Amino acid sequence: PQLANQIAAGEVVERPASIIKELVENSIDAGATRIDIDIEQGGCKLIRIRDNGCGIAKDELSLALARHATSKIHCLDDLEAIMSLGFRGEALASISSVSRLTLTSKTQSQSEGWQVYAEGRDMSAVVKPAAHPQGTTVEVLDIFYNTPARRRFLKTEKTEFSHIDEVVRRIALACPHVNITLQHNGKPVRLYRAVQADAQIEKRVASICGMSFMKNAMSLSWQHDDLSIHGWIAPHAKQEHVQYFYVNGRIVKDRLLNHALKQAFLENNSGGTYTTDELLGYVIHLNLDPHQVDVNVHPAKHEVRFHEARLVHDFVYQAVAMALTEHHQ
Ligand code: ADP
Ligand code: MG
Repeated sequence: PQLANQIAAGEVVERPASIIKELVENSIDAGATRIDIDIEQGGCKLIRIRDNGCGIAKDELSLALARHATSKIHCLDDLEAIMSLGFRGEALASISSVSRLTLTSKTQSQSEGWQVYAEGRDMSAVVKPAAHPQGTTVEVLDIFYNTPARRRFLKTEKTEFSHIDEVVRRIALACPHVNITLQHNGKPVRLYRAVQADAQIEKRVASICGMSFMKNAMSLSWQHDDLSIHGWIAPHAKQEHVQYFYVNGRIVKDRLLNHALKQAFLENNSGGTYTTDELLGYVIHLNLDPHQVDVNVHPAKHEVRFHEARLVHDFVYQAVAMALTEHHQ
């Protein structure tokens, strides 16, 4: 099974940033309102993620590390309508197969916390008591220490950090109500303060995407039947790419959605001033009935399939077109 875990790890654990993505998604799924991320040496030496979510019960700690163990879906029907970010039960097993992983957690009903440790091949099933407030801490040391070929693919500390920074930014945009901090080599480097009121959301988006994005941005908001969309588009975002599309809280790269955006932009900008969509900046959240979208397309969960693709395409097209034309009037 360890080999299977390491093979699976090839799909979800490419670099420190992919580990952080999986762990933070778990914290979000656990209902955390506070997530603190600590890394050393671009995450290659250490990744520690602490949350104040629901925690993992003592009896479930070892299970959480087992392959294909997920508490998020229980039957095939659940797979048809996924509400959580995780559902494959693969991340912790994969990560622990290529690192030294410690999982510490406490649920609300327990009076003390518990800890399990796993190191590459030998997973010690020993669960021991450990002080911890409600929530979970996952500590990952020495990524790829047992798979040297993969370790060689790690880039400089600076490069790995910039991947991590991007992953954290994406999650901060998706979850404005969660307080997120990032610390690198003992120094606080990012603080995304939780938004208390809707009016503060733009401030948080600006702090993530830059003031110049927000200054140029027009907001977008529309709803029809089970489909709703909101966010911001900026026709000439000058700074680096701000292009984030979320479907039910999950960041996606999707050809259908890109096409709808691009077409709406090219056909609805003030008489065709823009002939390219390269400078189009956007942060868009699309929400729909989870039965209408399949997220189980790829292990990294970046791809989605819509059951009614045409309908979704046209909805996004119209919402963007409307925002652009209103702006030009
Ligand atoms: P998945 O997220 O696909 O279910 P994971 O391997 O990422 O699989 O996690 C396995 C299980 O461990 C989850 O289903 C969840 O029950 C538990 N878990 C992991 N991280 C946390 C966390 N931060 N808080 C609470 N439960 C967690
Ligand atoms: Mg997960």
